[in-house]
Amino acid sequence: MPRGRQVQYACVDRVTAVPTGPGEAVIEAADPRSTLFFRSVAHRAKLVAANASQVAVVVAADPSFNDELVARVLAAAECAGMRSLIVLNKSDLEPETIQALARLEPFARAGYPPLVVSALRDAGGAIEDLREQLRGDTTVLVGQSGMGKSTLINALFPEANAATREISTFLASGKHTTTHARLYRLEGGLDAGSAVIDCPGLQDFGLAHLDWRQLAAGFREFRPFIDRCRFPDCRHQSEPG
Ligand code: GDP
Repeated sequence: MPRGRQVQYACVDRVTAVPTGPGEAVIEAADPRSTLFFRSVAHRAKLVAANASQVAVVVAADPSFNDELVARVLAAAECAGMRSLIVLNKSDLEPETIQALARLEPFARAGYPPLVVSALRDAGGAIEDLREQLRGDTTVLVGQSGMGKSTLINALFPEANAATREISTFLASGKHTTTHARLYRLEGGLDAGSAVIDCPGLQDFGLAHLDWRQLAAGFREFRPFIDRCRFPDCRHQSEPG
């Protein structure tokens, strides 16, 4: 529990906490963050994770994913100084996956080639390839609900399943909430190894915290053109040239 009301903490914040009773502590201080990944709704920040180095956005062919949500997540990650990865799940749904790949083509051209996996029916070692991409990073896993993020977590962390069930039972038992992010560690702990932060499903991703300059810079494919506008304060909307 944080002391005071204004301070917000996020998953992977490193804090100093003082025990105040059985199973309870008060956060006294927090270390500076290397990154902060967050969305914002009407200028109110909704923290997703601190100190993460990478964002993986999970999409799938069915149900259909929202391209704009993907674009927003990628822009937020760029502006936060984090690497990004698109994971196209449910590759076992073959015709649908071909269509999804076509929809992801503009992202691939911008430098985000999707990693194609099936969390349910892994074939050809794609899950191992994903694990490889996660190694050495602290990765925030985001996506709309239904994309198969929970199934993917189970495929990536079979050993974590039992613990997850225990925590879920505990959370379901009382006033605790399951709407928070959860950290899974790969080998070696947080500093030495890798970790994945599983976030609740998202339906939107507000970028009210980014001004128009940051927004333009957040879209990689747009960068080569930014300095070529006729007006230095161009908003890239209706200005000539
Ligand atoms: P979440 O809301 O993103 O956590 O999604 P879930 O992991 O709960 O999965 C949503 C549905 O998609 C479930 O019925 C899963 O069984 C299914 N699903 C997840 N991964 C795959 C996959 O690789 N292939 C197929 N065909 N279905 C999947």
